[in-house]
Amino acid sequence: SPDPAPDPAPVDTHCPYCSLQCGMTLRPVPPGGGSDEKPGGVEVIERTAFPVNRGALCGKGRTAPAVLSSRVRLTEPLVRRPDSGRLEPATWEEALDRIAEGLEAAGRAYGRDAVGVFGGGGLTNEKAYALGKFARVVLGTPQIDYNGRFCMSSAAAAHQRAFGLDRGLPFPLADVARTGCVVLVGSNLAETMPPALRYLTELKEAGGRLIVVDPRRTRTAEQADLHLAPRPGTDLALALGLLHLVVAEGRVDEEFVERRTSGWPEARAAAMAHWPELVERITGVPLPDLRKAVTMFCDAENSMVLTARGPEQQSKGTDTVGAWINLCLATGRAGRPLSGYGCLTGQGNGQGGREHGQKADQLPGYRKLTDPAARAHVAAVWGVEPDALPGPGRSAYELLDALGRDVRALLLMGSNPLVSAPRAAHVESRLRSLDFLAVADVVLSETAALADVVLPVAQWAEETGTMTNLEGRVILRRAALTPPPGVRTDLWVLSGLAARLGWEKGFPADAEEVFEELRRASAGGPADYSGITYRRIAEEDGVFWPCPERAEETARKSAAGTARKGAAGTGWESVEGASERAQRTGSAGAGADPERAWADPEGARPQGAHGADPGGAEADPEGGERPSPPSRHPGPHPGTPRLFLDRFATDDGRARFAPVSHRPAAEEPDAAYPVLLTTGRVLAQYQSGAQTRRVTELNEAAPGPYVQLHPLLAERLGAAEGVPIAVVSRRGRAVAPARISRDIRPDTVFMPFHWAGPGRANTVTNPALDPVSRMPEFKVCAVRLELAEG
Ligand code: SF4
Repeated sequence: SPDPAPDPAPVDTHCPYCSLQCGMTLRPVPPGGGSDEKPGGVEVIERTAFPVNRGALCGKGRTAPAVLSSRVRLTEPLVRRPDSGRLEPATWEEALDRIAEGLEAAGRAYGRDAVGVFGGGGLTNEKAYALGKFARVVLGTPQIDYNGRFCMSSAAAAHQRAFGLDRGLPFPLADVARTGCVVLVGSNLAETMPPALRYLTELKEAGGRLIVVDPRRTRTAEQADLHLAPRPGTDLALALGLLHLVVAEGRVDEEFVERRTSGWPEARAAAMAHWPELVERITGVPLPDLRKAVTMFCDAENSMVLTARGPEQQSKGTDTVGAWINLCLATGRAGRPLSGYGCLTGQGNGQGGREHGQKADQLPGYRKLTDPAARAHVAAVWGVEPDALPGPGRSAYELLDALGRDVRALLLMGSNPLVSAPRAAHVESRLRSLDFLAVADVVLSETAALADVVLPVAQWAEETGTMTNLEGRVILRRAALTPPPGVRTDLWVLSGLAARLGWEKGFPADAEEVFEELRRASAGGPADYSGITYRRIAEEDGVFWPCPERAEETARKSAAGTARKGAAGTGWESVEGASERAQRTGSAGAGADPERAWADPEGARPQGAHGADPGGAEADPEGGERPSPPSRHPGPHPGTPRLFLDRFATDDGRARFAPVSHRPAAEEPDAAYPVLLTTGRVLAQYQSGAQTRRVTELNEAAPGPYVQLHPLLAERLGAAEGVPIAVVSRRGRAVAPARISRDIRPDTVFMPFHWAGPGRANTVTNPALDPVSRMPEFKVCAVRLELAEG
């Protein structure tokens, strides 16, 4: 059955949408007190104690309860009847039996690789973990990936390459307000995560500078001291041009480069080949602005680069992010407090969703599926032989492209690729060609409408689970309501399917039980959650990973008969979270050291000289583990708000420069398709719009797509404000009203991507993939414009 009925008292929880995971309190509405404004049996009240949003919420968060009581939410399973061809109500027994049969039949006929699983970056950590395990040990298929591949995978790959570890922000978001200069590349956070804007406001109030890189003058760019508007697809060249100027002006931090990095000569040579005049021509950014940016960035004592989807959703996204990381490394702006590179992840659990096994190439704890030791560890937790685990599968777009051909049956959870995938008409035809499709969702999304079986699953406020926000802070989203009678949780669904598919070792449906297993599976991995418990998260309002369970805890558990392998300290973590936690809880703090307060504006870092966690077990050169020395920090590991302060997570502890060079977008304008298209989000909608399009207030604020274009382009086309314009690429056309504005480059048009139908922007976008991250090129393709029929 679903989660037990929760206490009707107000419940502290988090927003269902973006990666900020704003804290909020849900208060039950008394019987009869419900209304259109306070639907769903709960109302949202602000929760100022949660440090990330400090009570602030955007309209999406405020109205989130509306989806709970929406008349269009699913409350009973649907099965497509062969006679009518329509989706019709069914029992849970029948629906789950049909899914088990559909998946098994494809496996029997075509082999296990013909069965696929597609997840989502909004699923809780427990669901992401269970989905990965379900695919690999119950279905035995390598074909699992998720829509997070479309979100931040390029930044993740660049992070791994440069630092040996990917955590979107290696520091708390609050550091943004306290640095000296922020370069925000391809993020419109004033619309995508408005409560985060206050950090930029505080930065400026404290005298800091803001540089925004975006081809459009967005609400975020309006706040900037300097707005650079490069041609879409040229952010890599822009970063190289800035690095060239850094070298030319003698701004390289030679001591840092020498002491903490490798690969500088090659990266330097690549940057020096990109003359500022050449970069000015490629990007369209005036040379004086390039110089101004370098001055602002380097004059500040501390500075940061934060990227988002703009530079990442490109067929060279990994190298583009790598170029911005190079800029940070060359100027010594990494691995020290209040400076560094970070990625503003988009989806609610974009960070945690990529750590626990629903990604095609990864196992829980952010382990590599190709690493024999990682396979052995996770296989032991799952009770299977390492050889039983399949290898890496296809990336998200490649998986969707294989549907109906190599992949014949698909189970899909928490995603609506018919709207969110590139080349969406093609993806739609692939989905239609499947032998069998099952979708679990809260509403009948455009993708669910194509399914053979649709499962109505619980929503955010109806089930408990953990999420990991953009900072790597693991938080607890608590149930505040009982789901409607016909609704079940995703975990319950996976458990029921596992039983039907012959998995006899137990597949827990209880979220905390799944999390306990996830802790063991992640122990010792890069994203180590083994020291995090539901109780700790509740007490501390979030815990930053890595947070290994300490050896003494393990020993205590072992003595109590609950042993598991202890986790070694990683060395690149900094455990200053102890003092932050101590301030919040009023406890003594684990080893705060005021003498090192210069190094940590939130308190001291209590670790050893090289950042190693002295509480962890030490590696034995002969391969085993030897007992830890007495810990200076008794008690649980405090979590890790800041990474890399003393060493990076690479084998030699050094950050790695990437020797990258500019290359054009996969599709450049030509005579037939002379204009550039870029896509993005708007304030009142979220991702594919499956939920937010069902909220009246949000729909009124943003009722449909549009084409933003410069007056010069509009004049050439003969288009007036509001007339329908067809945006046509080699893959299809999307039609939406013109919105004429000087806030966009004359060579570029913009479309938001939240809608299906004729205005579906992703019908037009290019699925050309980044060779490293397999990220599609959402942010740039060549189109032509036509006046459409009215
Ligand atoms: Fe906060 Fe994002 Fe939710 Fe808005 S959508 S309330 S910014 S978590």
